[in-house]
Amino acid sequence: MVFGAGGFIGNHLVNRLKSEGFWVRGVDVKYPEFGQTKADDFIIGDLRDAKVVESLFFRDFDEVYQLAADMGGAGYLFTGENDADVIFNSAQVNLNTAKYCTADKAGRLFFTSSACIYPAYNQTDPDNPVCGEKSAYPADPESDYGWEKLFSERLYQAFHRNHGINVRIARYHNIFGPLGTWQGGREKAPAALCRKIAEATDGTEMEIWGDGRQTRSFLYIDECIEGTVRLMRSDYSDPVNIGSEEMISIADLAEAIIKLSGKQLKIQSVEGPQGVRGRNSDNRLIAEVLGWKPEQPLIQGLATTYQWIASQVAIKNHV
Ligand code: NAD
Repeated sequence: MVFGAGGFIGNHLVNRLKSEGFWVRGVDVKYPEFGQTKADDFIIGDLRDAKVVESLFFRDFDEVYQLAADMGGAGYLFTGENDADVIFNSAQVNLNTAKYCTADKAGRLFFTSSACIYPAYNQTDPDNPVCGEKSAYPADPESDYGWEKLFSERLYQAFHRNHGINVRIARYHNIFGPLGTWQGGREKAPAALCRKIAEATDGTEMEIWGDGRQTRSFLYIDECIEGTVRLMRSDYSDPVNIGSEEMISIADLAEAIIKLSGKQLKIQSVEGPQGVRGRNSDNRLIAEVLGWKPEQPLIQGLATTYQWIASQVAIKNHV
């Protein structure tokens, strides 16, 4: 069963589980925005409602993936305007899930936490961010989105200790790829940049938020799904980073996409929400625990993603 199956990662995860031959139930408040779901059974329901969550477990599940969250990119999470909704909505979903996804109902429960749980004080230098799993405490996430994720990590770990839920926790670092949100205010940096570049007229300018020196790493969706499934089927129940170690500045990311587009565009810095100054995945633990870590070069996934977003922009312009 996949909670958040109408979202970007959930939709891809359903496809993967179907390709492995599972019977899959998806749950979300909406169907996937792009393409048809492959889930055998797709329930439209609000996971903040305890009765809805309880009713989903009338049969037992081998694997339950909890991906539902009130979620977005910097323009949604880092302005402060949506903090109450983000904390309340996501915490409510996680409280219901922890309560009803009991050890006798689910073989394993996967929770998607985030790199946003890492302390702001370790991410002030764009060239040397610290994001090892053990560095999460003393806690000081920069956003309320990060605080909610950290709370929910602890919630699931407490249910693991006290009630025997077989939990897995991933800290995702900026996942991107086709079929993700690319417009509307909730899109994340790679999608937003691909859209701006696809929409720009050759020989003009494109805008980035901030001076462009802020750094991140970006993980292509296929590797995220691979890491997710591998972690789920491992026996490791503490939080693990699932991200890329290929750190890049936002200006360099924009340059790379401009090159893929074949256009000549000048980058213009403007005021905008940026989040922490630097962030990169630390993959030592995942390599140790799974004997696997993401390796695909960023440019490969960017090329596929730019092509897909450019085609979406073209469709939009012809409607
Ligand atoms: P997304 O917004 O595309 O998907 C989340 C889905 O949850 C949406 O379809 C939404 O409708 C659904 N949802 C939200 N509230 C719900 C509710 N009350 N009841 C039912 N469904 C509800 O986001 P995504 O990028 O696919 O992210 C999936 C998970 O991974 C989230 O928990 C997110 O916080 C986490 N994560 C994602 C990234 C990333 O880079 N995309 C990074 C770190 C963590």
